[in-house]
Formats: sequence, structure tokens, C-alpha cells
Amino acid sequence: MKQYIAAFLLACCIQGYAQEKKQVTFTPPFDFPLTLSGNFGEIRTNHFHGGLDFKTGGVIGKPVHALADGYISRIRVTNGSGYVLDVCYYNGYSTINRHLSVFLSPIAERVEKLQYENENWEVEIIPGPEEYPVKAGQPIAWSGNTGYSFGPHLHLDVFETESGEFIDPMPFFRTKIKDTRAPKADGIMLFLKRVKV
Ligand SMILES: [Zn+2]
Repeated sequence: MKQYIAAFLLACCIQGYAQEKKQVTFTPPFDFPLTLSGNFGEIRTNHFHGGLDFKTGGVIGKPVHALADGYISRIRVTNGSGYVLDVCYYNGYSTINRHLSVFLSPIAERVEKLQYENENWEVEIIPGPEEYPVKAGQPIAWSGNTGYSFGPHLHLDVFETESGEFIDPMPFFRTKIKDTRAPKADGIMLFLKRVKV
């Protein structure tokens, strides 16, 4: 019985994904051809990799663009992910941009002020939807190599805003990614979906 329920939920899940993806398009985060250094679901030393790693040509300081219309919903500096920006898009998805090098004005000044006030490098700000609106393609920060990162890149997580569920961002960018490697299946990962009753 349990297997039937699991299979049914999985089927719903897959079907739901297929439907949602058709409706949503994202503009690319960079204005140069996208190449990846990491995929969603890869096994890292102590966790699954929850997003995509975009290469930035071995350098920091590439403008990172908004993927759609929305607003900056969370600003963080953390030891693990360095300079981090969450963007909530009006299409139902949110992203987390990690390992950035520089925030743009006026966020940069606000973060620095808070760091001095708190006497702590790690800070978190949760702005309201009206504070930092963004338009598709607008630069939101500069890419970097801050936090637990081994070379300049942009780590991009995508999650459903409402459920908070992380999804594989690849389908949104597949046609824009310069593929240099043949696909290889390392395994299958199943997500347990929380069902509201
Ligand atoms: Zn990553």
C-alpha cells in the first residue's frame, strides 16, 4: 500500500513539474555563454548540491542579472556562502545567489553599516517587497568567490516561493548552456513531498 501511495505522489510531482515549467521563462544570469561547473543533486562531502554552479571565466566581478521581474527578498553575508542575495520573482519562483563579491548600492552601504553596528561580518536583512524591486535583466550584484568556494563562480538555487521546495534549475537554462560534456547518470534522487491535508 505504501509503495502505491509513494508512486502516486511521485507521479503527481512529476506531472506538476512538467506543467509549471512550460509557463515560466527566465532570462540568463549572465550576458556571456553559460557554462557549468556543478549540477543539481551532485553528492558533495556532506550534502547534496542544491543548485547550479555557473562558471565566470575564472574571474570575479561579472554582473549577475535578475532572471525575471521581482524583488530582492533576503540579503545575507555568511561564512558558508559569502555574500548572498535571495530574489523573489513574480512567476512563483525564488532564487538564491551565493558567493557574490560585491552588493550594489544602496544594499552595499546598508550591509556595511549593519556589519559595523553588530560588529559581525555575518549579517541578515529581510527587505519588504517594495524596497528593492528588480526588472528582468537588471544587474543585482557582482559575482565572486566569497564563503566556502573554490574558484570564482555563481551558485544559483531555485525554489518554489510558496512551498520552499528546491528544484533543479537546469530546465530553465538548458537551451542557453554551452554543453561540453556528455550527460551521465550518477543515480536517481527522489524528493519526499510534504502533502497538505
Ligand atoms: Zn554550488
